[in-house]
Amino acid sequence: MEDLWSDSDAETAIGRYAEAGVGEDLALRVYSSRLLGSDPRLVQHGGGNTSVKTAAGEFSGGETAVIHVKGSGRDLGSIEPGDFATIRLGPLRRLIELEELSDEAMINAGRRNMLDSAAPSPSVEFLSHAFLPPKYIDHSHANALLSLGNQPDGDKLAGEVYGRRVGIVPYTMPGFGLAKKALRVFEADPGVDGLILLKHGLFTFGETARQSYRRMVELVNMAEARLRRERKYVFAAAAFAGEPASAADVAPILRGLCAPAGGAREGARKRLILDFRTAPAILNYVNGTDVRRYSRIGTVTPDHAIRTKPRPLVVPAPRAGGLDDFRRGAAAALGDYADDYLASLARYVPGAAPIDAMPRVILVPGLGLFGLGISAGDAAIAADIAETTVAVVTEAEAIGTYESADQSDMFAVEHWSLERAKLGERNGGALAGHIAVVTGGGGGIGAAIVRAFAAEGAEVAVLDLDAKGAATVAREAGSGSHGLACDVTDPDSVAAAFGHVRETFGGVDIVVSNAGAAWQGAIGEVSDEVLRRSFELNFWAHQTVAQNAVSVMRAQGIGGCLLFNASKQAVNPGPGFGPYGLPKAATLALMRQYAVDHGAEGIRSNAVNADRIRSGLLTGAMVKERAKARGVGETQYMSGNLLGLEVTAEDVAQAFVHLALAAKTTAAVITVDGGNIAAALR
Ligand code: ZN
Repeated sequence: MEDLWSDSDAETAIGRYAEAGVGEDLALRVYSSRLLGSDPRLVQHGGGNTSVKTAAGEFSGGETAVIHVKGSGRDLGSIEPGDFATIRLGPLRRLIELEELSDEAMINAGRRNMLDSAAPSPSVEFLSHAFLPPKYIDHSHANALLSLGNQPDGDKLAGEVYGRRVGIVPYTMPGFGLAKKALRVFEADPGVDGLILLKHGLFTFGETARQSYRRMVELVNMAEARLRRERKYVFAAAAFAGEPASAADVAPILRGLCAPAGGAREGARKRLILDFRTAPAILNYVNGTDVRRYSRIGTVTPDHAIRTKPRPLVVPAPRAGGLDDFRRGAAAALGDYADDYLASLARYVPGAAPIDAMPRVILVPGLGLFGLGISAGDAAIAADIAETTVAVVTEAEAIGTYESADQSDMFAVEHWSLERAKLGERNGGALAGHIAVVTGGGGGIGAAIVRAFAAEGAEVAVLDLDAKGAATVAREAGSGSHGLACDVTDPDSVAAAFGHVRETFGGVDIVVSNAGAAWQGAIGEVSDEVLRRSFELNFWAHQTVAQNAVSVMRAQGIGGCLLFNASKQAVNPGPGFGPYGLPKAATLALMRQYAVDHGAEGIRSNAVNADRIRSGLLTGAMVKERAKARGVGETQYMSGNLLGLEVTAEDVAQAFVHLALAAKTTAAVITVDGGNIAAALR
């Protein structure tokens, strides 16, 4: 590992933070914390923590000894002074005298002694930082250290590598117990540069930020050097017959199987997003004949359990053309996984309510791995940690035999309220965990639909002819939204887009078939070419999109929702709009046919009939012209309906969201036009 320290960058940090009233000790603490956080081989996603002991002014005057310690769950890579909790050191150190301290009392002791009560709660490891005397303390879960220490004889290996340079702390759950044990080991030899926490990570110490960081680099490099020696060949590959199936074909099957509890008819059932990863190192790991042994021993450091659960699911190798066999094999493996998970939980954490019994990492021999989560972001974190696990376990097995902390500790950590607090607010939005595809999403009504679904927590794939527009709308909608170039009138383009969505998110739950354009002409005169072009976009494209969606939904086996943007023209034809209204009328019938043919599979099909919305179909110039033709003002024209209200793209988008949530509604049309009795459905 590289030493990234730069004296000039450190000086710059001191100067910059001084302007904000932050002292030099904390400024350097922030600077070197970011160096640790910038290397995923040291810490990931809120892992690791750092501290500095210094003095701070009290409101009442005078100075007091304090510790700045990283706030729980904060990311070291982007940390700022405000992400540290500042706690009076004296009261914390008096806790050393206690024999026992509950988690609640520990957190309360931290919070009641904070100088700024609005600052984040300190890391669960804050008492270790407070009890240990050195001024600067860095704590990481460095991969190399874990590969070295996560062995049956990890203490012996660490002793050989480090001699008396470090103290060795046997595994203990983070919290008060670990703080006491770490202090005892330190006091036996206060000259140590750091402590190895077996099956967890390491602490390094320094009188300066520079010294503590340099020791982290040195100790990690010594572990890396040891891992390069006396290696054995790892993971003999199993032989697979035939071609593997693609990730895009495998993902919807796994996603459907892993939708926790409930039948396909339950509308608001929880779903998970999948994030696929593959690389030579991952394949080497998942293809090993022994994968069930080394992959299921346990997480490389206990707090990974909140992201990945204690064990991954291992499924059979999927073969191209053998997806039915794969589904059966995966379902059986998942059944065993869930039974084992619930039994282990009952044994190790009696009385704990399971979060759910579904895996957060799936290993697929021949293919790679999937991370799972209730959002694309969570799925990516699970996949990142799974990749770290692959690296650490592979290195551990190269020099010995991988071993983790006990499974009981991982189940305890997964269900420990203080660890779960790191995850913050979860399950935001009624459509969290759902994947929506919106065609024509690059602008106008489509963009409003994308925003409305993203606001409800769905991951949205934005399809549009205009790739740039789609990307912009997706970026602005936030979360995991993706922009994709797609010509909905080209079946290959649609198939490619759906393939991309399956690979990116794992499947599809909702499709808003929105792309359309208006052609005009009196029906007795209009050319066949114009009519056919309109049918291509306003009918056939809807059919192509819906058919692709249904194929994914059937592979998942958990239902789905098709939504079509119909038009007033479908029910109330206007003069000269035949070329637009005829295919739209066919699309309305198409919507009903999908409801009829696929209702038994839990696939619902509905439409929104909107009218007179400012968009690409009704431009500002057209509004001006039509208002003039009727001898009214633009505002009057736009609100010329029963309610006297202008209808907006956002109103239409909300109707689509409503239909997506209406679990017992299919073959329905919702009208969003402010009231137009001539276009009322009957
Ligand atoms: Zn830790």
